[in-house]
This record gives sequence, structure tokens and C-alpha cells, in this order.
Amino acid sequence: MIPWLSASLLATTVLSCAECTFIILTSGRFWFGPALFFKTWLIYFGLNAAFLLTFNALFARTALVQRLAKTQRRHFFLNFIIVWIVDSALLVTLVARDSYAGSEYLLLALNTAFIGFVTLLILRLTVAAPKDIFKISMAWCLLLILAVGSLEWVAERKLAAAVSRRSAAFKGDVPHVLLLILDTVRSDHLSCYGYPFKTSPNLDQLAQEGLLCRNSYSASNWTPPGHISIFTGKYPAQHGNNGNVHMPDDLVSVTEILNQQGYFCIAMYNNPTAGRGMNLTQGFDLDLGVFSHSWILPAPFRIWYKLVWRGSGSRATFLAAERIFTWMEKHGGHLFMYVNITEAHAPYRIHEPYFSQYTANLKISNPARVRYLRMTRDLIIEDSSRFAGLSNDDLASLRAAYDSEIAYADRNLGRFAQAMRDQGILDRTLLVATSDHGEFLGEHATLGHPELLFNPVLQVPLILRYPDRIAPRIITENVSTVDIFPTVLNLLDLQSQISSDVQGFDLLGMKLPADRALLSANISPEGGCYSLIKGGRKLIVNQDNFLPQYFPVDSLLFDLNSDPGELSNLLDASTPPENELGPFLSSWLNDITVRPDMPIRMGEDALVNLRALGYSH
Ligand SMILES: [Zn+2]
Repeated sequence: MIPWLSASLLATTVLSCAECTFIILTSGRFWFGPALFFKTWLIYFGLNAAFLLTFNALFARTALVQRLAKTQRRHFFLNFIIVWIVDSALLVTLVARDSYAGSEYLLLALNTAFIGFVTLLILRLTVAAPKDIFKISMAWCLLLILAVGSLEWVAERKLAAAVSRRSAAFKGDVPHVLLLILDTVRSDHLSCYGYPFKTSPNLDQLAQEGLLCRNSYSASNWTPPGHISIFTGKYPAQHGNNGNVHMPDDLVSVTEILNQQGYFCIAMYNNPTAGRGMNLTQGFDLDLGVFSHSWILPAPFRIWYKLVWRGSGSRATFLAAERIFTWMEKHGGHLFMYVNITEAHAPYRIHEPYFSQYTANLKISNPARVRYLRMTRDLIIEDSSRFAGLSNDDLASLRAAYDSEIAYADRNLGRFAQAMRDQGILDRTLLVATSDHGEFLGEHATLGHPELLFNPVLQVPLILRYPDRIAPRIITENVSTVDIFPTVLNLLDLQSQISSDVQGFDLLGMKLPADRALLSANISPEGGCYSLIKGGRKLIVNQDNFLPQYFPVDSLLFDLNSDPGELSNLLDASTPPENELGPFLSSWLNDITVRPDMPIRMGEDALVNLRALGYSH
């Protein structure tokens, strides 16, 4: 065989073999199965071979390459290094361009080290017979692939047996449960919540077939406490998470309950603070984490996926979710899947054709500043000077980028939902779609989701769909993300599992109390920020001292009916209005269960502040 041809084929074989093995070992082998593994390997092999063959056809006869590759072994090395460098350089560029999770760098390093290790191993094994390097190396690679493929097959069998054993506990029709958290999506930017741009046609369709809560609020303004409230049905002051502490093991999450009942529980989250890092994954059988979405596919696909899909997660996540649901159906399992997708989280990338549609009539005067704000890695901007010099159209284009992220995620959701529908799985799944918090897009001179508990950061979507038990309708009562926990458990006839300290209400059960108060909080060692909505009024109490520009006074009171933008603080008026919110909040703060392991004291200080304001009786 021509030396450069055999060398390039050998280099390709080694690299694709090592890469595929690495993917299997790191990405949670669940949805692979031997067939997909071999297919992946073949495609990867083909792409790398095509690249190297082209390279060699063009350059193999040049003097430099001839000098560098005098022996067959050196031919192989040269080819291998070229394709390895090209691959890694592309990946580094892509990871650096749009990753905000350091974990991808770690995986990249591990990937590179692993490939190096396999290469050295193969070279070492062939050193005894340098003349047959090609045949012997190929044989070792094929053996490695067969070994990994076989392991994959055995693992899948074992998993299938475990899933069907667990599902034997179920009697009658029990749905799968999909908890879909659209991280950082504020409800008023979804078309089903009345947004003028058609940002979410696919979610709209699902909402039309289920229950849409028009006025739903997150229990917190950011990811860890917001998620934990969804998973436990408790407000932040009770579950104690301020982002710096893990979710304690003794808190009972919906996952743990469903796991005990026989559900197979799988987590996939694109936001690294919405999973293992916060101990949110307790009760999950399989934590596919943040790695899976971009590491499901080998390098050439990842490049394709980053460049062409402009992928920041949800495309691959939904593809994986689809495979998992299909697999579960085939094996008679009952799945509880938690999916977090983070497109709407900063930085806001531009997705077409949506962005062009949303900005068609705009005249953007300061594109550099808009780009800075759009791409900034500072997640929170509370400095109004950063908005100086921006026109309304500039701000509208910033919002259009955020909207295009939502539309892109919705498109991927639509593909997934259609695949689920085609297979008849969608109607056998209880879908809960919500968000952990909203986002400021210039309101109150703020971007991101800092602890200013105004409505842009608290109003989130809440949609439930399960045609067997949920009639299509819209409810307008104020509801909270803490209601998800009791609603899901009630619907699955697991009322007995809801402990008395769960603070949410069953949205499908009795009529919600008319005088219901909704609470949201960002607790912190300084005391935190709390909001209380009751009737049409909203009280925000700030016990932290570091946001004086927004809180010249400790408390703000708004009439949401006449002032939905929360611009006119009624407590600034010379005559403080009568209101029922202060005593209510003070009694609530008084009732907070302060966890002994929480580094936070609440209650007494809060009460003193409230009394000083004349709130408390
Ligand atoms: Zn979040």
C-alpha cells in the first residue's frame, strides 16, 4: 500500500477509535447502544479519512513532507499529529467562543490526554514488528472498538433489565413525567403569554393542549434557589439555598419520591449550577449533566453542531431526550426526566432567521455597545451608565437577540415534541414547562437576573400538559413555581407523599384561595431581598445594603394593576398607604424554619426592620 495512504488510514483509525471510546466513557452511555456506537465511529472515521487523504493528495509529495516522513512510522505520526492538531484547534476555538462552563475545557484536556494515551499504547504494541505496523495497529484498533462495543451492549442489557424490574411496581396507566425548565425565560416574551413576536409557536401549541398559568411567579430570582423550590415545593427561606450552599440531603425532592415509586430518573441540564453542583441531582438514577449535550457527538459533529446549528445546547439535548424516551418506551420503563436548557441565559447569541425578523424595522446606532451587552460574561449589570447612549432601537435589538434564543430553543422543542407525538409518547407524558427565573432586559436599568425582585425577573411561564387528566384551559390566579411539586404528586395520585411543610398548592385540585400571597426571595447572609404579592399589590423588602441605587428605602410597594412596570413606589408618598402586606410578610418571616446548617440568620432582623417601617403590629 502507498505509505501515505496507509499512514493516513491508520491515523484516522486510531483517532476515531480513541475518540469514540472516550465519548462512550464520558457521555453517559445510555442512549448509545452498539448500533449507534458503530455508526458514529464509521462516520467519524470517514470524515477524518477524507480530510487526511485530501491533505496527503495535496502535500505528500512536497519536499518538506518527504523529509519529515521518511519511514512508515513517521508517516503515521505526521498524519496523526496533523489531524489531531486541526481537530483540537477547532474545538478550542469553538469552546472559547461560546462556552461559559469551564467543564468543557476539562473534558477537552481529558479527551486529548486519552487520545494520546491510546496512541502511545498502540505504538508501543507495534514496536516489536515495525514492518507490520499498519496491520498490527489496525488489528488493535478493531479489537478496542469491538471491546467497547461489547461493553456497551452488556451495559444496555443490564440497564434494560433494571428498568423493567423497577417498572413492575406500576399498575394501570402511569405517565412519564418531563420537567422542562427553560432557564431564564420570562413569560412575557413568549407568544402564548401575549408577546407580539411569535417567539414560541411550539410551546404555544403544547400550552393550547394543556393548562397555562397566566400569572405565574418564580420563588426566586436565580438558578439554584429557583430550581430547588421547583423540586421541593418550598420557598427559598425554607429550603435555605442562597446559591452558596448545597441542597441539603434531608430535603425531599420530587425526584426522590418518583424514584421510590418506580420511575427511572434522568437529569440533563445545560446550566452547570442547575444540577450536581447544587446537589440537585439527589434521587436521579442517571445524571447526564452538562457534558452530555455537547459530547454526545464526536468532534466533527460537535464542530458542525456549534457552527451550523449555532448550538448552545438544546438541539442535542432534545435529540438525546428523544432517544431516551424512545428507549424507555421500548423497554417498558417509566421515565422522570428533568431537562434544563439555557439558551435564554446570557450571553445572548443571534439566531436566524428570527433576529433579522425581529430587528427588520430598527435603526441600530451603537452596535458595539449592544454587542458588548449582549455577549457580556458579567451575568448581572446593575449599572445604569452601561446603558448610556443607547437608543430605544438599540435596546430593542438587544431584546431581539434574547428573543431569538427563545425562538431557537422553541424550534428544537418543536422537533422533539413532534417526534414524541409521532410515536404516541407525548400524550402519555405529563409535561411541565416552566422557568427558574426571568430576566431584566433594560428595565430598571438592569440586565440579567440580580436580586431586584421586580416582575421581569419573577414572572415565568408555567404550562402543564397531560390530556388524560388536564383539560385545556388558562388560569389567571397568581401561582408560584412551588406549586409544581404538589401538583405533579397529586396528579400521579401520590398525595400521601406530600409532607405538611410543602408550601405550594395543587393547581389542579381545589380552587386556589382568593387571598393567596406569593413569596419570592433571594436570601443572603446580609438578610436578603423578599417580595410578596397579594391581590394586586406587591411589596419588596430589601435587607441587603449593596443596592442603594435601587433601594433608597428598605421597602417598595407597588399597585400592579395601575403600575405594572413597578415604577411608582407608594411608600415614597407622603402618606403611607394602608396595606395588608407588611404584617403578612412579617408573620411569614417569623414562621420561617431556620435550618441549623444554614449560614444565615433570618427572622429577628427582618422583624425589627419591618417594625421600624411601621409594618408590624
Ligand atoms: Zn437560571
